[in-house]
Amino acid sequence: MKSANEVYGILIITMTNETLRKLPSVNKLIHSKTAKDLQKTFGLPLLKQITRIILEEERNQILKNNLDQSPSYIDLINKIENRLNRETEISLNPIINATGVILHTNLGRAPLSTEAQNLIADISGSYNTIEFDLDSGQRGQRGKDAERLICQVTGSEDALVVNNNAAAIILILKALAFQKSIAISRGQLIEIGGGFRIPDVIKESGVQMIEIGTTNRTHIDDYLNVIKTNNIALILRAHHSNYNIIGFTTEPTIKQLVSIGHQYNIPIVDDIGSGTLIDTSNFGLTHEPMIQESLSAGANLVCFSADKLLGGPQAGIIIGNTNYISILRKHPLARAIRADKLCLAGLSATLLHYIKNEAIEKIPVWQMISMNVETIQRRAKILADQIDGKVVAGLSTIGGGSLPGETLPTFLVSIAVNSPSQFTQILRQHKIITRIKDDQIIIDLRTVQPNDDKTIATTINKLSG
Ligand SMILES: *Cc1c(COP(=O)(O)O)cnc(C)c1O
Repeated sequence: MKSANEVYGILIITMTNETLRKLPSVNKLIHSKTAKDLQKTFGLPLLKQITRIILEEERNQILKNNLDQSPSYIDLINKIENRLNRETEISLNPIINATGVILHTNLGRAPLSTEAQNLIADISGSYNTIEFDLDSGQRGQRGKDAERLICQVTGSEDALVVNNNAAAIILILKALAFQKSIAISRGQLIEIGGGFRIPDVIKESGVQMIEIGTTNRTHIDDYLNVIKTNNIALILRAHHSNYNIIGFTTEPTIKQLVSIGHQYNIPIVDDIGSGTLIDTSNFGLTHEPMIQESLSAGANLVCFSADKLLGGPQAGIIIGNTNYISILRKHPLARAIRADKLCLAGLSATLLHYIKNEAIEKIPVWQMISMNVETIQRRAKILADQIDGKVVAGLSTIGGGSLPGETLPTFLVSIAVNSPSQFTQILRQHKIITRIKDDQIIIDLRTVQPNDDKTIATTINKLSG
C-alpha cells in the first residue's frame, strides 16, 4: 500500500508534468507572428537563445513551486522581449560626475576638450590619413602628429604613443631588458590598481628584477653596489603615484640616477605615472613630477599616461632618446599595443592646446583643477536654492593615482533625504554619481560641466516630488 503522502506526491508530479507539457516549444514560440517583429529587431540566433533561457526559467518555476498553470503565450513573449531589451542594452553611458574626484578611473578618467571630441568625431566617420602621406602618396607613420607635438612641447628627441602606460612599461622592459636584469628601489614596487603591480609586470616581461635598498630608504650607493656586482640592463624608476611615504625616507633624484647611468652606460627609465606638463604647485597642490623635468634631468626614456593629468584619451606616451625609441618602435610588441586612430586624433588635439598655451582654459581636467572656488560657490548656491539644499565648504580630490591625499577647497551642496544610500542609487539610475557624507547626499560641482547643473536640479526635484 502506498502512503497518503506518496499518493499525493504522485498526483502533484502528474499535475506538474501536465503544466510543463503546456509550455510551448522554442520553435513554436519563435515562429509565431508576434515573435517575427522581435526576430527582425534582434536577429534569430539571439531570439532563440533568449527564448530557450526564458522557457528553462519557467520550467524551473513550475517544478519548484508545483504550479498547476503555465504562463500565457503573451506573458512568455513579454518576458522574452524584456530580456532581449536588457541583454542588448549598452551599459557604457555618459554620466554626470558630482563626486568631486577629478580623475576617476572607474568614470573614464579625463573628459576631453571640445576640440578633441570634434576631431575624433571627424575622423571616426571617414577614411583618413592615419598611415598615409598625402604629398608622396606613400605609406605614412602612424602616430606622427601626436609624436611630433609631444616632442615640440617637451623638447624630446623622439616619442612613441602606445595603448596605455602599462603597455609602455612592458614594451620598454621587453625591448631593452628581456632575459636580463634590471634594478629598482624597493620603495617603488607599487600596485597601481586593477591588479597592475610593478614587480609582476617585470616578471611577466621576462626580466629579472633586482630590488635595491629598503621600503623607506634607498641610497645612490645601493644602486652602485648592485651595478658593480651585476650586469644591469636598465634602471627603472617608478613614481609612487598613489601613495606617500613620510618620515625617515630618502631616494636618489632622477639626476643622481642619470649620472651613474652615464658613468656605467646604463639607460635610466622613468615611469612618472601621471604625465603633467603644468606645475600642480601653481594650484595649491604638491608638486607632481613633470615630464619636462625628467627629460631635462637626462632620463633616457620617460613614460606616462595620456589620460591622467595630461587630460587626453587613454594612451601611453614614451619620450626620450631616438636610439632607444627606435628599438621600441621596431619591436613586434609595438604593433600589438599601438594606439588607435580615434585615440591619436584626441591626443593630437589635446597636445595642441599645450602648444597654443591654452591648456588650462580648454582641457577639462585643468579647467576643474584651476576652477575658482567662488565660481563653484556661486553655482552651488543656485543649485542649493533650486533643490532645497545647503551649501557647505568641502574638499575635491585629484584621483587617478596622482597626488594622494591632496585636496582642493570647494563648496558642496548637501541635501538631507530619508534614505541616502537608496537615493544615491536612484540618482545613479539617472546617470548622476554623488557621494554620501554624514548621512547627507553631497554634490561637488567642480567636476560637473556647468550646463549639467540644471539637469541635476530637475532630476532631484522630480525624484523628491
Ligand atoms: C597610472 C600609472 C601606471 C599605469 O598607467 P595606465 O595608463 O593606467 O596603464 C603605471 N605606472 C604609474 C607610476 C602610474 O601612476
